Amino acid sequence: MSVLIKGGRVITAADDYVGDVYIEGERVSLIGESLDVEADKVIDAGGRYVLPGLVDPHTHLDMPFGGTTTIDDVESGQTAAAFGGTTCHVDFIIQPQGSSFADAVSDWKAKADGKQVIDMGYHMAVTDLREGGSLEELASLPDQGITSYKLFMAYKGALMVDDETLFKTMEVAAETGALVMVHAENGDAIDVLVKKALAEGKTEPKYHALTRPPETEGEATNRAIQLARVAGCNLYVVHVSCQESVEPIALAREKGWDVWGETCTQYFFVDYTFLERPNFEGAKYVYTPPPRDKANQDVLWAAVRNDVLSAISTDHCAFLWDGQKTLGKDDFSKIPNGGPGLENRLHMIHEFGVRQGRIGLNRMVELLATNPAKLFGLYPKKGTIAVGSDADIVVFDPDKKHTITAATQHSKIDYNLYEGTEVTGTPETVLLRGNVLVEGGELVVEPGIGQFVKRARFGEHLTAVEAAA
Ligand SMILES: [Zn+2]
Repeated sequence: MSVLIKGGRVITAADDYVGDVYIEGERVSLIGESLDVEADKVIDAGGRYVLPGLVDPHTHLDMPFGGTTTIDDVESGQTAAAFGGTTCHVDFIIQPQGSSFADAVSDWKAKADGKQVIDMGYHMAVTDLREGGSLEELASLPDQGITSYKLFMAYKGALMVDDETLFKTMEVAAETGALVMVHAENGDAIDVLVKKALAEGKTEPKYHALTRPPETEGEATNRAIQLARVAGCNLYVVHVSCQESVEPIALAREKGWDVWGETCTQYFFVDYTFLERPNFEGAKYVYTPPPRDKANQDVLWAAVRNDVLSAISTDHCAFLWDGQKTLGKDDFSKIPNGGPGLENRLHMIHEFGVRQGRIGLNRMVELLATNPAKLFGLYPKKGTIAVGSDADIVVFDPDKKHTITAATQHSKIDYNLYEGTEVTGTPETVLLRGNVLVEGGELVVEPGIGQFVKRARFGEHLTAVEAAA
């Protein structure tokens, strides 16, 4: 099978030109001006952007959490991703306490079996190094293509690890070349504040934010950075939401330490006041870290412009408002933490980042595709359009208007964080390894086409050929 994408404006992190992209089999084999080649399928991309398939480094599909399970499984979550132009994501395997890492890996792979619409990799969330996985087992994960370890510094009594487990994992990462990812909040202090609020009868959704002040995020971010320096590992801070955590990352990067950070789409748009919406509407915005005061939104835009933050993910972690979020109707601490986003990252960042002049198109591609691919051992197989790279491509119509609404989305969740937002620009055709996934507003493949990707270690390149070996 060969595909010729003709006359589009090809935009990568570095380039911007009008040209043709020729795909043979699963990879791009030729790029040029007015290519004179025969193809089984020709896509006229005149007036369109031709972007690399986006990479989302932070998602939670089919994940048990807070007494329930996220509503999007691999099939529905990846379908939503495909419609949003995301063709590869890295999901979190959560090690159940007392369980080996090997058991957790096979559990998670079973969840994806036969359901994959796009390509995916896994991070390992380390929760237990005492009764569960051993340090030796942890050290063996990068050989299986799982080259990042995630640690929760919050969610006391559930996923949270103490500093001993955090630091031991960092030491293993320094040896194995894995990237350490932290959910940075001070879980002990937050636990005290949550208990105090509940004892005072403060149960509404807004107390989710009021018991997790931004200083607790700043403190944990700085702690993780300093411990990573002692251990000598590479550190990536997930879902940075506020100035208090941007600052220690900015300092670290200025000093040349091995620290990177991401924020998520929602932190640019949803602020604390959304949690105050009446009739339990606020519960839709209960995710962690919580929506912050609006002033932080400009801080985050500046941080992605200045490369203090290197990636924008979604932290897609979808729970139904009616039936799952309602578990916390009388107690905000029982509201399952998480929000949706896989389908609208490109819509929102293109509209409010590029069209409103906050970032350029190249930087958008870098934040949504290239940097996530580089940081997580997927580049240059993923994250760019180049000869030899996977033909994961989004043909994007920059002039087409689209209204974001739960009524037409592909996720199974019953709301959308950006309900009613009108954007100009939407993915038109989406390809995964040369296969057309989305065309004419329809998913045109059967689930099962997506693959698990064995990722390279931090800083190492992953070519399409190596990944297939
Ligand atoms: Zn997350």
